[in-house]
Amino acid sequence: MKAPRAIAFATAASLAFCAGIGPVHADSTAGTLPDTMATLKHAIGIHTVEGQHQVPVLAAYLADKLKAGGFTASDVEIIPVGETAELVARYRGTGQGKGQNKPILLSGHMDVVAANRKDWTRDPFTLINENGYLYGRGSADMKTAVVVLVETLIRLKHEGFKPSHDLILLLSGDEETAMASTRELARRYHDAEFLLNADAGGGTLDATTGKPVLYEIQAAEKTYADFRISLTSAGGHSSEPNNDNAIYRLARILDRVAAYQFPPMSNEITLASLHALGAHTPGPMGAAMTRFAAHPDDAAAAATISADPAYVGQIRTTCVATMLNGGHALNALPQSASVNINCRIFPGTPVASVRDTLVKVIDDKSATVTVQPPPPVASPASPLRKDVIAAVTDAIHARFPGVEIVPGMSAGASDSMYFRNAGVPSYGIDAAFTKPDDTFAHGLNEKLPASEVAAGLEFWHRVLVQLAK
Ligand SMILES: [Zn+2]
Repeated sequence: MKAPRAIAFATAASLAFCAGIGPVHADSTAGTLPDTMATLKHAIGIHTVEGQHQVPVLAAYLADKLKAGGFTASDVEIIPVGETAELVARYRGTGQGKGQNKPILLSGHMDVVAANRKDWTRDPFTLINENGYLYGRGSADMKTAVVVLVETLIRLKHEGFKPSHDLILLLSGDEETAMASTRELARRYHDAEFLLNADAGGGTLDATTGKPVLYEIQAAEKTYADFRISLTSAGGHSSEPNNDNAIYRLARILDRVAAYQFPPMSNEITLASLHALGAHTPGPMGAAMTRFAAHPDDAAAAATISADPAYVGQIRTTCVATMLNGGHALNALPQSASVNINCRIFPGTPVASVRDTLVKVIDDKSATVTVQPPPPVASPASPLRKDVIAAVTDAIHARFPGVEIVPGMSAGASDSMYFRNAGVPSYGIDAAFTKPDDTFAHGLNEKLPASEVAAGLEFWHRVLVQLAK
């Protein structure tokens, strides 16, 4: 998944970059680039869409690369999960890491959203480099970052880099659909220092000037939950209408749900994010963000922010009707009617309490409200670790000096939610900078600026060396 970014706040932290690499030899990013492009071309060509049985093929290809690049066979594992698979590669550390010396996890996914050749301008499963962009399904979400992570680990091996902590690459195989492989990975690797996810966060370029605006570290995401509200009625012939009509009752319930707003909420991430955003946003909206960041109980500021669909989710749990069912024949009174209510729940709010609120709001004892499968996964916000923020800031500033680094909360749900749920602080730090309408992840003609491959190699090398030195 690649959700719209939330945005956020500046840290002054900027540690001097320390290479810390061994004496063997230092590969350059430029030197690593040709092999990375060749690997990416091959990876885009593998149809890792749900149901195509091709994720294990990509996993085997990447596993061979890692083994040829210096990983021992026993440190590279492919774990089948139904028709898909996960790939795990352990880069062994010296055991000299701080604290309990737990591993640092690196996360990505190998699967992609389906793409129909006849709808696309170019073949979605052929990497095409055109007009400064790389076109292809997975170019943005997220085969480029997956290949960059693999190539960076191989580069570090070549350089003789000895990390203090173990670095464990965890590539899931069904992030875009059932997330069974992610659940399995989070169950196995819950005892970790923290996780860096290349599938969230990232930099924003100004849509007109192309200049960097800010870089977001995704440190929280909302809990995704679906609720079904169901009603039944006796039915009968449509020529004999009565007062007990499930469709009419559901319509009244929907009016009440539409009118209800959950109370404003905040955490250190959203307050920092709104504080930074306020400084960049003109007019009443910017002023409201600044006021809310200082006084989260400012109801007028909350109302202004909530009026914008792009920001309402930053300060509240939101619930909205998304699908409707009702009736069974054109000429019969309905025997049932139901609606799906999709909620994005603020971190720290139990799913059960949102259900209780919905029951109160709909105020109809005959209606049932049920949480839909799969069970929602609540994920707490991750603490803003100074070492992670400093390493990311340093790597971003090496490319764009002074650009603002801000924590953000996204709408969910990425692989990180299972790790946060399991107690592993997780940070979305995609290296790429893109314009707001640049990538079309999940959509037609997905693309990524070609510059972001070399930038990604440079970024991940710096971040890993600094965090694991
Ligand atoms: Zn993704």
